[in-house]
Amino acid sequence: MQKVKLPISVDSVRAANNRLEILASLDKSLLSRLIESTISIQSDIDTYFAFDVDQQKLKIFNGKASVAVELTCQRCNEPMIYQCEAEFTYCPVLNKEQENNLPDVYEPIYYDENGEVNLHQIVEDELLLTLPQIAMHAIEDCKYSDYESSFGEIEEEQERPNPFDALAQLKLK
Ligand SMILES: [Zn+2]
Repeated sequence: MQKVKLPISVDSVRAANNRLEILASLDKSLLSRLIESTISIQSDIDTYFAFDVDQQKLKIFNGKASVAVELTCQRCNEPMIYQCEAEFTYCPVLNKEQENNLPDVYEPIYYDENGEVNLHQIVEDELLLTLPQIAMHAIEDCKYSDYESSFGEIEEEQERPNPFDALAQLKLK
């Protein structure tokens, strides 16, 4: 089954009143900031949005976004696959007053003059937040640990005095 494409934006109030659910994919080529922050994005992004009205009559939505990306391991400089899994809950607001009155569990997000929130931007922001500050392989998968141990062995061999060197020098005298 072909998944629907995630709409760029939705009317958040109407979506909440309709308890709209969206299961959609977002074309990876549209996420320029995520492209810049990674070596590559492995697939289009799986997204899910559920709009709702809460007990206080606030229009809210929950969402998820997931995709695997390729990052550079900061320990060995080799590429590594990182699975981004974002989960979020927002409450669209119109002004600062509404924002200040929000319960702490909700992230405020401003909707535009048409009442719309930009879903593409939310997905990209949330995926960027899941990226590690310092990307690193698990230690057992990291090239650096091999490099470090073999490098250590070579160094040790070189430093160990060779008893035959001493003999050779004696013979020369
Ligand atoms: Zn590594």
